[in-house]
Amino acid sequence: MSTPTLNDVASCLSGYDPDALPVRDAQRIINDFVTPLAGIELVPLLAALDRVLAEDIISPISVPAHDNSAMDGYALRGADLNDAAPTTLAVIGTVYAGRPSDVIAASGQCVRIMTGGVMPAGCDSVIPQENVASIADDAITIAPGVVQSGDNRRFAGEDLMAGSPALRQGKLIRPADLGLLASLGIASVPVRPRLRVAFFSTGDELRSIGQPLDAGCVYDSNRYTLFGMLTRLGCEIVDMGIVRDEPQALETALREACRQADAIVTSGGVSVGAADHTRQIMAKLGDVAFWKLGMRPGRPLAFGRIASDGASAYLFGLPGNPVAVMVSFYFFARTALLRMMGAQAPQLLLKARSGAAIRKKPGRTEYQRAILALDASGQQEVRITGSQGSGILRSMTEANCMVVLHDEQGSVGAGDMVDVILFEGLI
Ligand code: AMP
Ligand code: MG
Repeated sequence: MSTPTLNDVASCLSGYDPDALPVRDAQRIINDFVTPLAGIELVPLLAALDRVLAEDIISPISVPAHDNSAMDGYALRGADLNDAAPTTLAVIGTVYAGRPSDVIAASGQCVRIMTGGVMPAGCDSVIPQENVASIADDAITIAPGVVQSGDNRRFAGEDLMAGSPALRQGKLIRPADLGLLASLGIASVPVRPRLRVAFFSTGDELRSIGQPLDAGCVYDSNRYTLFGMLTRLGCEIVDMGIVRDEPQALETALREACRQADAIVTSGGVSVGAADHTRQIMAKLGDVAFWKLGMRPGRPLAFGRIASDGASAYLFGLPGNPVAVMVSFYFFARTALLRMMGAQAPQLLLKARSGAAIRKKPGRTEYQRAILALDASGQQEVRITGSQGSGILRSMTEANCMVVLHDEQGSVGAGDMVDVILFEGLI
């Protein structure tokens, strides 16, 4: 079966117009067009952090392996408890964590037990030490009603049952997953290969740090934001520097990127009226669409697959403006790259109350940089950061989230609920 062309994929949408493409249509085409990378690597447990799990992990053991105590206290038989009068039980031994004992409690007896200690035969409940009414050398007395049958007993397999799925393939491995894998005694983990992503900036006006800033020039900042975004996503990066707006230089760079990477991210040169060599060379090397998206910031976007000498790579030609690069990366490239990595992209939208009115025209998606904070009465509210120009990178550094105003939405009133995407999560 031959792989579908971009046109095949786009033709599934009604009214496909590359010059006025809604954000959700572009996202759909991109996600339908990219395919997960093949292959599995087996890596040591600690190296699996932030990688994508390649296979389901089935629990080889039950965790915990035995019924055990959740508290330091006394293991007892629930049936012995008297709920109308104090209960006195004889203490017949002690159980420590990691040292199972063969003591068996008969009716009227109990066993001193430490947290994690295996429940002695006959016992089904634990009273925490601090809840015992009186403790003598060889007996305890329990007031009525302070403990119920079954309290503070952890069941074998209540965390994980042997033979059941512990983690599903496609999961991005987080600290808790490392711990869970360790709790199963798993030393090496099957993960997806790391995605190799090459990136470069285009533009004759760009200068690198350390070079003099000639008249009319700007320092190349996009390569640094892209470095950060790609690294955070767990990609292996190939930084190809700044490429001049010249057909030969662009062709050489794109061909080299094809050889070295699974995906290529460029910035600049895809807008109408730019020194158009970038578009022309991209089109020459493969199946690439040039879109004008109904969004702000970041209207132009090139997407497709290019090939050179038998090697091929997905291409994301992002716009040049520094905020547009970030927004296009997060809302188009990110999900596609995660899909190539075989990862499930988590849904990130939350709802928050807008602290002020926001002007917005229906018919395009807007990504407004904003700060989510507590207002004077302790309620959460979101407020957009000052100027929202697509070249004003400060709007991103000052913000802690973005307000997403969807295509069909119009202006927002103060107090209205809006969709928000936070920049940082706990994990
Ligand atoms: P372009 O899409 O190439 O027309 O670029 C749009 C705007 O973004 C221009 O003002 C460029 O100078 C600016 N720009 C393009 N690439 C970069 C970059 N790598 N770093 C900073 N600004 C850039
Ligand atoms: Mg340019």
